[in-house]
Amino acid sequence: MTDKPIVLMPEDVQRILGKDAQRNNIMAARMVSEIVKTTLGPKGMDKMLVSPTNDIIITNDGVTILEEMQIEHPAAKMMVEIAKTQETEVGDGTTTAVMIAGKLLENAEKLLDKKIHPTVITKGYRIAADKAQEILMDLALKITTGNKEDEALLKQIAMTAMTGKGAEDAKERLSEIIVQALKQISGGENSGRKKIDINDIKIETSKGKGIKNTELVQGVVIDKEKVSYDMPCSVKNSKIALIDFPLEIKNPEIDTKISVTSPEQLHSFVTEEERSIKEMIEKVKLSGANVIFCQKGIDDFAQYLLAKERIYACRRVARSDMEKISKATGGKIISNIDELNPFELGNADLVEEVRHGEDVLTYIRGCENPKALTILVHGGTDHVIEEVKRAVRDGLGDVACVIESGLVVPGGGAIEIELAKKLREFSQGLSGREQLAVEEFASAIEFVPTTLAENAGLDPIDTLTELKSRHDSGERNVGLNLFTNKIENVLESKIIEPLKIKTQAINSASEVAIMILRIDDIISATGHGNKSLGMGNNQIGKIRPDY
Ligand code: ADP
Ligand code: MG
Repeated sequence: MTDKPIVLMPEDVQRILGKDAQRNNIMAARMVSEIVKTTLGPKGMDKMLVSPTNDIIITNDGVTILEEMQIEHPAAKMMVEIAKTQETEVGDGTTTAVMIAGKLLENAEKLLDKKIHPTVITKGYRIAADKAQEILMDLALKITTGNKEDEALLKQIAMTAMTGKGAEDAKERLSEIIVQALKQISGGENSGRKKIDINDIKIETSKGKGIKNTELVQGVVIDKEKVSYDMPCSVKNSKIALIDFPLEIKNPEIDTKISVTSPEQLHSFVTEEERSIKEMIEKVKLSGANVIFCQKGIDDFAQYLLAKERIYACRRVARSDMEKISKATGGKIISNIDELNPFELGNADLVEEVRHGEDVLTYIRGCENPKALTILVHGGTDHVIEEVKRAVRDGLGDVACVIESGLVVPGGGAIEIELAKKLREFSQGLSGREQLAVEEFASAIEFVPTTLAENAGLDPIDTLTELKSRHDSGERNVGLNLFTNKIENVLESKIIEPLKIKTQAINSASEVAIMILRIDDIISATGHGNKSLGMGNNQIGKIRPDY
């Protein structure tokens, strides 16, 4: 035997073991949940986020806050992932999901303090999460979509999604637009129950008018003006060419050196280049196109020729916009001028340039594909516009969920109270320790109504007690209406949300909580394990010595 220590890993590897690892992770996850908690619900507050380049975002949206914060702690990052998943799967409920995960971990800590082993807690949580899905399915209400009454209901759902998000004044108008847009892309009446891709609806913004002027445009709107003043302002019966190569004097691929020794030589070189541009524009004209959207540049000479031919052109159009226009007008994106022919062109009734305040936009109206739609969000400042845009996305996500599944639940904490009650009843049949875990799970779910109350300045304990007692007496749709600050039947006050927000939030929250609880060893090569919740911003610009 020797006294020499055994070296497993390099010295700078940090290791946190057992309880310390658990507490460290739980603490970080809880801090994330604490951060977003104050934004929950219609009376939630907003956050102002300032980036290293001094860009400002003012938002109430859970996922936006967490994404912008550049969180570094590994467990905290897992919490951010929950929000992202919720955003892509449902489009709303990100704060809820993160908060439930944080509370599940906080409550697990209580059990750890009582010397209950993490595997027992995770088992209990898993049982509870499965049961919760079952209970939620049971409690969900089925609605049909198709007639006028349901349209009103869908509007209410959109409004619930947008409450407290800076879109307050224009909620009515925005919900109307959201419902109309989704009805149109889902194929109108009665054809619900299918996957809707909300990305089919383009959201474009324009600074100038107020939010109330937000409009639903039949067609595509892009944030581009025509490239030359001399081009026509509008083109009827548009034949649209979509090209992803530049209309410019060619830049030789390799660095080429051209020596000219006389003015004549220079002249002939330039004419040669001009000739090739002329040829290109000639080909465009031959194809019959009267509008061009070009993903790359269009140089002065090409602009001049296009304007002479009365062709409307936009340059440096984003790829995503090119694809949307292609889908909307049936045009093909061409990579070579020789491919251009009348069959590859897109069709629209009208392409026109429209000026809103400072912004100049191009509208493509009356597209071949009648499902091409743009929601054009107007607003006074960039911050307002961006926040309204996020609110509209939440609304679109929620209404799309309901059109797809037809399943809704009462909001304002009603569904959470009922779910917690049912989980507690269910836990009675379990063995001692698991029962404790399921009970803690149930109380984590109740964190949603207590936070809604707290954020509105109401007493969370009183609110919870009253909600619970009314649910115990069988009023299962009673929740907190924060417009009136009353505890009442929220279905009647039309505070309704899609079921999927809740199932998805509980699902991913419990998965992450379980995953974090199962960790008893953090081995970190970069010293991350030791870091508390870090904001990455302050690191930007510093040069790391090891690079
Ligand atoms: P999330 O990011 O989780 O969607 P929100 O800030 O959008 O967070 O808040 C959603 C919560 O607010 C839901 O629990 C919903 O039931 C609740 N809520 C929405 N409108 C009302 C209202 N009028 N009264 C009470 N609660 C409401
Ligand atoms: Mg929401």
